[in-house]
Amino acid sequence: MARYLTSVGMEVHAELLTRSKMFCRCEVGFGGEPNTRVCPVCLGLPGALPVPNRVAIEMVLRTALALNCQIAYDSVFHRKNYFYPDLPKGFQVSQYGETNPLGYYGTLDIPAADGGTKTVRIRRVHLEEDTGKLMHLPGGGSGVDYNRAGVPLMEIVTDFPPDITTPDEARDYLQQLRLVLLYLGVCDGKMEQGSMRCEPNISIRPEGSETYGTKTELKNLNSFRSVQMGVEYETERQSQVIESGGRVVQETRGWNESTQSSFAMRTKESEQDYRYFPCPDLVPMHFEEASIERLRATIPELPLAKQRRYQGEFGLSEYDAGVLVGDQSWAGFFEEAVGQGGDPKAVCNWMNGDLLRLLNETGQVALAGGQAVAHGHGTPATVSKVTPAHIVDLVRLVGSGQINSKTAKTLLDDAFSSGDMPSRLVEAKGLTQISDDGFIKETVAQVIAENPGPVEQYKSGKQGVIGFLVGQVMKSSQGRANPTMVQDEMRRQLGE
Ligand SMILES: [Zn+2]
Repeated sequence: MARYLTSVGMEVHAELLTRSKMFCRCEVGFGGEPNTRVCPVCLGLPGALPVPNRVAIEMVLRTALALNCQIAYDSVFHRKNYFYPDLPKGFQVSQYGETNPLGYYGTLDIPAADGGTKTVRIRRVHLEEDTGKLMHLPGGGSGVDYNRAGVPLMEIVTDFPPDITTPDEARDYLQQLRLVLLYLGVCDGKMEQGSMRCEPNISIRPEGSETYGTKTELKNLNSFRSVQMGVEYETERQSQVIESGGRVVQETRGWNESTQSSFAMRTKESEQDYRYFPCPDLVPMHFEEASIERLRATIPELPLAKQRRYQGEFGLSEYDAGVLVGDQSWAGFFEEAVGQGGDPKAVCNWMNGDLLRLLNETGQVALAGGQAVAHGHGTPATVSKVTPAHIVDLVRLVGSGQINSKTAKTLLDDAFSSGDMPSRLVEAKGLTQISDDGFIKETVAQVIAENPGPVEQYKSGKQGVIGFLVGQVMKSSQGRANPTMVQDEMRRQLGE
């Protein structure tokens, strides 16, 4: 079988986190009774006039700037004309043309397999409005819910020829893009709720060939994993079609999560004619350079750059740095703890280990001082009582040898439920580490006397048994003995 190269183009739709819709004042939300967030404008009733949402335009401009795009200082909205029940007006307001989208010709860096970065070129970032939703009614027949109609929608499309060539890169691209949108606060990135939707188009060509194959577009992908599996599946399916003498048909295919396979939805033999024309109800947009520069100044350090900085500056592993930047408020927590003098590696280990476990178990979030509670339309989570100062305190207690790490774990549990500072808990409970020479000598001698079997084993060459003996000393000191001193004393008494 010939070897095939995969090419993946990505089209991502992101619902913007505005309070109101794109051209009217209807509220944006998820769920709720059908057709309760509608008005004459988003229903397209005769005579209703749209007024563009300035916040939505700024969100798209900021995204375009974060993706290193060129900005269309003069830009217009077009009508994309087609008939479908989920489109009350008979057209969708969108942006057409090569250099008319608010942003065009940009890039997004994604992590490369060799630990470096790979640049994916972005073709366009434009603003449009979402459609309504068709629903199958329980009693038979279909209904349509226009609550989503007119919600500001941003479309981000990669450039051709595609830079994404593997299922892993497809997933990584999406993960990075989602993080960028979250960092910018422009989308809540909830793929399972459809506020971020991804439609990859996939083609294959024999190795060495310059001509790109016929592409198929995948829909219904609602997780990073389904995107990865979908690209993998489609590559395999297309190779089999070609190997068996057939040809790949240009079509839209749906992804079936339960069977992990794709199915034909509709063919796209010719491009549909949408008869785009500038929307006569909306005035052309014009931006001054100064206002674009003001928006540029609001763009935070982006997640991948932050991750690479943590690796370089603090010596964190790619994985650990990735967990920290995977959530902006988690990264903010880390930076505040480091800013307060906490050792970066130790802070990171406590955060990504025990603290993260406690947060996951209780469904809480940890926030640095002054951080706003997460963006989104959902209910905010409970904020943990543990602050960066608690972690810095804990790291100092361990670092200075006042407590060992076993005691520290218990202290963190305690601080998590009470909110008390670890150093205060140490004082109140008398938990300081015991580094008293006499006490350690005595306890080690006692453990040796009580465990003749293991001592015999150790002396006959089973060095590993020392772990058990040290453990007995720690146990009888309620975990407070200095483990390094115990270890040294144990070796000494065992007759080196
Ligand atoms: Zn409305």
